[in-house]
Amino acid sequence: MRDWVLERASLPSFIDFLSKRWKVVAPQRRNEIHEFRELEDPADLCLDYPTTMLPPSRVFLPDGEVLYRFRPNSPGSADAEAEERPIALFGVHTCDLEGISVMDEIYLAAPIDRGYARRREGAFIVGLECAGPCVEESLCADKGTNRTERVYDLLLLPVDEKRFVVWGRTNRGNDAAEESGLFRPATHEDHVALDDFRAAQARMFRPKFGLRPDELSARVRASWDDLLWVAQSRLCISCGACNVVCPTCHCFTTRDHLPVREDGLGERCRYWTGCQLESFAKVASGENFREKKSQRLRHRIFKKEVYGMDRFGRSGCVGCGRCGHFCPADIRLVEIFGQLSGKEVTYA
Ligand code: SF4
Ligand code: SF4
Repeated sequence: MRDWVLERASLPSFIDFLSKRWKVVAPQRRNEIHEFRELEDPADLCLDYPTTMLPPSRVFLPDGEVLYRFRPNSPGSADAEAEERPIALFGVHTCDLEGISVMDEIYLAAPIDRGYARRREGAFIVGLECAGPCVEESLCADKGTNRTERVYDLLLLPVDEKRFVVWGRTNRGNDAAEESGLFRPATHEDHVALDDFRAAQARMFRPKFGLRPDELSARVRASWDDLLWVAQSRLCISCGACNVVCPTCHCFTTRDHLPVREDGLGERCRYWTGCQLESFAKVASGENFREKKSQRLRHRIFKKEVYGMDRFGRSGCVGCGRCGHFCPADIRLVEIFGQLSGKEVTYA
């Protein structure tokens, strides 16, 4: 690990430097929301963002991606073309870095997903620590995801109005810092500013329900027959938004389009889907294994806290708070976990 300093005034020049090699995708404001999209003008960069609606991990799994092309009634298939330029994902909150690392465990494990791997392995990632929770539904202090050592090449720590202390985790990150000519090694004075920043963070990031991951997992596991799932899902409209905005929800469906091109080839495409949708667990016979809203809500939370722990030894929820923040029915994980921990956490 190397520590550097980047003056805030040099940020546009660093974006220019990165854009010569990568397609820079960064948080920008669009009306009332923020989103990760290609940054065409460094002036549009918005690092002081609450949370984006869609998580940056979706950049590696675009909705409607062409998985491969085929000629109807002929054996064999052809891969879809690779994108022209690798992606530099810029300004990713630490919870979302954790989210990308969960996706890596799923999509880069055998059998490796070729589309995800192609985008992910060429990507340069610049993370960003928050000074405090970015939305009221955040669970990052409970989940320990307000800090991370995973996934990033460079990590920006916004220690004050003038500068970032920057950690270089990978050779690629440190090489970029050096080659750009915009970074300098951190000094004692920068480390003092970092200590002040850390002290301010410690005051801001307060756990809400205070259970260790294994304790939370055990409480969720024991809640299978709890009426809280019925009560919490009462207002759910099964829109699936909580799945789509989640940085670790990874389910997809495929559809074939026949033939869609002048050369007569068809395309198999991948689309996002999610377990909160009514049709998700419906099978060909017409039976639906999770017909009730309460079953679907319970499944989503069990997938994160129980099945994630069983499969990977870690929670599948990185505490970003999006599922509650963007739920039209105000169904919030922080209230569910609060109830399970005996600490009621409610919002107006
Ligand atoms: S976002 Fe809210 S209303 Fe929509 S499916 Fe999820 S829990 Fe239900
Ligand atoms: S379950 Fe909710 S809080 Fe947890 S990672 Fe997904 S969107 Fe974020």
